[in-house]
Amino acid sequence: MIGSNMQREYFPKGTKVFREGEPGTYAYLIENGKIEISAATKGARIEINVLGPGDLFGEMALIDNHSRSATATALEDTRVIPLEKSALESKISKSDPVLHLLLRVVLERFRWALRRVLDRERLLSTGALGSSEQDKLYEEAKEQAVNQLRLEQDLHEAIEKQQFQVHYQPIVETMTGAVVGYEALTRWIHPKHGYVSPAEFIEAAEDSGLIIPLGLWILERACEDLKRFQKAVNESGKDDDRQLFMSVNVSPRQLQQLTSDGTFVRIINETGVDPSNLKLELTEALLIQSPEVAAIALARLKETGVQLAIDDFGTGYSSLSYLHRFPFDVLKIDRAFINSMVKEKKSKQIVVAIMGLAHGLGLKVVAEGIEDQSTVDMVKEWRCEFMQGYYFAKPRPAPEILGGLIKSSAA
Ligand code: C2E
Ligand code: CA
Ligand code: CA
Repeated sequence: MIGSNMQREYFPKGTKVFREGEPGTYAYLIENGKIEISAATKGARIEINVLGPGDLFGEMALIDNHSRSATATALEDTRVIPLEKSALESKISKSDPVLHLLLRVVLERFRWALRRVLDRERLLSTGALGSSEQDKLYEEAKEQAVNQLRLEQDLHEAIEKQQFQVHYQPIVETMTGAVVGYEALTRWIHPKHGYVSPAEFIEAAEDSGLIIPLGLWILERACEDLKRFQKAVNESGKDDDRQLFMSVNVSPRQLQQLTSDGTFVRIINETGVDPSNLKLELTEALLIQSPEVAAIALARLKETGVQLAIDDFGTGYSSLSYLHRFPFDVLKIDRAFINSMVKEKKSKQIVVAIMGLAHGLGLKVVAEGIEDQSTVDMVKEWRCEFMQGYYFAKPRPAPEILGGLIKSSAA
């Protein structure tokens, strides 16, 4: 399977596939024949290994930028499949930085051990220990990985020490201007760095799996706070008998966990929240990456009576074609999209078309990131049901929201 579309190479007995010190751009898979891996010490040559069909050699060249630290010689007539470095390079650099670092550390150690065995001075004098550029790349990779490990460690502690707060941003009904619900937005109050934006830690929480306990905590908080907000409104004796709703962001990794073991139902039962007052916000990425998994999980969630929103619409794939396949109730048009629509007349037409389609599919639309009156006017023209943005209010901690609700009921 590997390299099946590659040109095979043939090395007659006694020829070299590569030599020490040469730049390495290929690894090789032996199809048939025999390869000796050897390295020169002071005057002598040491056999490191003899490899046969199915074995891979020269593989270190695929992972780092060092020159060859050994020589490969065909002991018999040998046929190999070359594996090109560039094909793997982008994959490796895009891989998890921790994994990347581990690979490199293992390789460094291996080379170091090899060097000790094989006359370190000689290799140094031939420059085979690597250029300063390689060292720089290595340092950068290391720094990145160390930062990520540190962030993940800090996140662990943050969960234990409860350094998170959920803030709430009102969502306003366009027709009446009334606050009809809130979006829960999480903040990390870091003891040293102060406020850390979710944009900086949600991804790390996802990568490390910490999003599972953190996401549960957020969901529980948001449900409990929704009950409090609703109670405050009900006690105010307002004639609007609609209940406030709560929108909660759910990341892809959380989705499966919420639906697979009944966790979501448990939270609903424990907090006593009416699931129809709860909206889970999901991004497009999940639907594109694993549509089948998403379809099953979303259908399960829908059975509980919860509402589903597609978040950040317009930034990602913006494909309306898949929307009808999933049971969404709400579409949130992203802030960046909204802003560009206001500035460009032509683009406005696109939003109008999206709105038409969304409404045609029975979705309600939220325009996000509204900061001024002119955007409000435009959104009203679009017949967008809900608005959200700094123009109305920034996200605030629960006690402030509650204080406001109680004050307005007293007025
Ligand atoms: P999002 O879900 O798109 O949330 C809206 C973001 O826009 C929030 O940023 C909000 O504070 C900000 N925003 C709202 N109105 C305005 C406005 O008028 N102008 C501007 N410039 N910004 C506005 P925040 O709180 O920093 O959150 C960033 C992202 O982090 C969120 O984007 C969401 O994707 C993620 N996030 C936040 N909390 C959670 C959470 O509890 N769970 C998960 N999985 N993700 C979260
Ligand atoms: Ca959101
Ligand atoms: Ca959004």
